[in-house]
Amino acid sequence: SALTASQIREAFLKFFEERGHRRVASSPLVPQNDPTLLFTNAGMVQFKDVFTGREKRDSSRATTSQKCVRAGGKHNDLDNVGYTARHHTFFEMLGNFSFGDYFKAEAIAFAWEFVTKTLGLPVERLAVTVFNGEQGVPWDEEAFELWAKQGVSRDRILKLGYKDNFWAMGDTGPCGPCSEIHFHQGDDIPCAEVAAGKPCQGVACDCDRWLEIWNLVFMQFERKEKDAPLIPLPKPSIDTGAGLERIASVVQGKRSNYDTDLFQGILSRVSELVGKPYTQEGGASMRVIADHSRSAAFLISDGVQPSNEGRGYVLRRIMRRAIRHGSLLGLSELFFFKVVDRVIELMSDAYPELREGRTFVLEVCRHEEETFRRTLDRGMKLIDEGIAKLNQSGEKKLSGAEVFYLHGTYGFPWDLTQIILRERGYDADLDGFWKEMEKEADKNKFGGSGDKAVNSIYQTLSERLGPSEFLGYEGEGHEGEGS
Ligand code: ATP
Ligand code: MG
Ligand code: MG
Ligand code: MG
Repeated sequence: SALTASQIREAFLKFFEERGHRRVASSPLVPQNDPTLLFTNAGMVQFKDVFTGREKRDSSRATTSQKCVRAGGKHNDLDNVGYTARHHTFFEMLGNFSFGDYFKAEAIAFAWEFVTKTLGLPVERLAVTVFNGEQGVPWDEEAFELWAKQGVSRDRILKLGYKDNFWAMGDTGPCGPCSEIHFHQGDDIPCAEVAAGKPCQGVACDCDRWLEIWNLVFMQFERKEKDAPLIPLPKPSIDTGAGLERIASVVQGKRSNYDTDLFQGILSRVSELVGKPYTQEGGASMRVIADHSRSAAFLISDGVQPSNEGRGYVLRRIMRRAIRHGSLLGLSELFFFKVVDRVIELMSDAYPELREGRTFVLEVCRHEEETFRRTLDRGMKLIDEGIAKLNQSGEKKLSGAEVFYLHGTYGFPWDLTQIILRERGYDADLDGFWKEMEKEADKNKFGGSGDKAVNSIYQTLSERLGPSEFLGYEGEGHEGEGS
């Protein structure tokens, strides 16, 4: 029978340990020493200073299974969750890293051996990409030839552009081309391009026919100043990232991450609580709950608490989305902490901090659901009334003032209001909402009603704009992109 996700995680770390890599624990989801980043969103985040040479480690090779969250900020996969088979808010990124040690040849050979030998994925279902050369940077012929040397057929090595196959730490700092490994899941999978009468873009397409499983970043250049020419690094480095959930899905022969053992245990708990079986077709709400319960478990155990600002507000939005989906499924009792408890039970062996924080995490979840449940019904009623008014006036967008009122009085995060409206064929005037938020911030600032309220609104605004744009930190929020 196929490897479980735990076995895959262990196989990966062991594979790289046997090849001279130090096994390093996942860093917390709240990045230490990096105020520009909302959450840890890639394996390389904890090694950023090692790559730039500011920090020295006693091992020049490392391997990790890194907790990642991509919700809020610039790397935001929140809206995809439950609707694509491959995006989560929380996921585990397996990675191997070389700090000026080995480079492209070894990184490519390692990855190919792991995928085809250790995991035994069939070569005929794999394809790889290399950088095609753009914006004055030469194409990555070296990587092309190295993949070919591994036995990858030349027509399965595709050249892709800047967006997918070039990575930069920021406007300045290390950067370089990438190679991605893709797995062919099947051409019978629906594709938006095809639905629009165009051909599927294959590996370059956003659809799930070809699934990106692993990204290899070749850090070989450095940019000293913004827009300055690239200088070759004397000691190039390697940073790779492979999503465990996606690897598990292809290894276990599933087309959805939710059908892997990582999610089955959580979905079965949801389904037990709801009293209905989980199915792919009608299962979006259950998937959202399963995904969001993992984010909640890990974020809270890493010290984030639901609040109205910054990271806490992202967490609150995630939790309230899940709670509302529970309510849609007919769950009228507190349920969210029960699902989170299952996550803790299933994931504690790999991440012992979950077990240590269990009581606290469950208490925070209970409390958040209690609070939100108190206003959920009344808020929903207000949205219904708003829709009735829109129908009368023939308009399609709920006004910013009403979205703001729902936010302030009923604790309905703006994105939740928007989702509910969109589900019913309407929309929310978010520009109007943010204007209301700014007005409120100014009022508090000049009315002297306390720094706390002002901070909270500014922090929410900063989360919308991305912390770097709002606070003007260096780095411009490119952190972790591409890996
Ligand atoms: P995609 O194009 O599918 O959004 P990506 O190119 O944004 O993925 P990378 O930044 O290259 O992803 O991250 C490295 C790996 O992490 C990916 O190859 C994938 O396996 C995994 N991954 C990325 N985003 C997610 C997510 N939201 N949920 C689960 N796995 C993810
Ligand atoms: Mg992405
Ligand atoms: Mg991609
Ligand atoms: Mg990628």
